[in-house]
Amino acid sequence: MGLGDFFKNIFGKKTCAFCGGECGVMSRTKIKGDEYICSKCDDMCSNYIRKSRFTKPELEGHMEYMKRCDRIYNEVILPVTVKHTCYPSATSRQGIEFFDSFGMFRIMDSSRDHNDRYPTELFRYDQVSSYEIYIDEADAEEPGKPKVFDEGGVIIRLVGTKDDTTKMRKGLRAHPYIIEEIKVCFATNDREKEDYLKYADNVIAHFDAIFGVHDDERGLFSFGMTEKEKRDLKGTVGFAKAAMEAVKVAKDGGEMSEEQKAEIQQNLNAMEDANTDGLAAYTRAADSAEAKIN
Ligand SMILES: [Zn+2]
Repeated sequence: MGLGDFFKNIFGKKTCAFCGGECGVMSRTKIKGDEYICSKCDDMCSNYIRKSRFTKPELEGHMEYMKRCDRIYNEVILPVTVKHTCYPSATSRQGIEFFDSFGMFRIMDSSRDHNDRYPTELFRYDQVSSYEIYIDEADAEEPGKPKVFDEGGVIIRLVGTKDDTTKMRKGLRAHPYIIEEIKVCFATNDREKEDYLKYADNVIAHFDAIFGVHDDERGLFSFGMTEKEKRDLKGTVGFAKAAMEAVKVAKDGGEMSEEQKAEIQQNLNAMEDANTDGLAAYTRAADSAEAKIN
């Protein structure tokens, strides 16, 4: 390859594998298989995946997936969501919006929200493998001075397609595309630090509630069963009832009424909830939201 070809290869225009448009060096990303995606087509993808990991057909599938997320948000969630659980409630950067009755959340991003160019991306609660607060600090300008706050927020890790879910908390499932760590930035300067890190605490508390983290704790002045004990009892009772119901159905010659079916399903759900520390309820909610969009 001559020097001219070399520069042409790097700085020359390329064709986007998706829209066929020409894209310059600053507005394209190389994907697997020596092809390119232009910045406009890139906007149709998740903000949280490295495109170079994927081939053209894989990214085409991903864009379809993103379109479905956007439809679930606009056609299933938005019309019935009145009260939003957002931390922070309004932001000039990023935040997290929880949709508990759909078992999903989204990442608010002031640079992308309210712009139709970007599809709304949703994440299922049962795809979250861990979450934590992060605080990045920078060295002070003068030597010897304490470090200064640089940025902070929440890091969320999802279950990746290569993760062994049998070794993780029960009820988790892999995200079809994301393996990268998701950094949600709440604050980028010292002035915002105090307020915004409180919101980060709220996010952690909300995830803890979803995953039943404190459900086996008893309040100092509370009597009776913990959340976990209640759920376990319901699960045990559910199992016994489902078994009894099955025996009855078998005796009656295998015919099951709609009522019986619904009752058995309810008992099975109670067992699943006990098995997954309550996560299965969110899985059912997310499944039913997804099923509304074909
Ligand atoms: Zn394109």
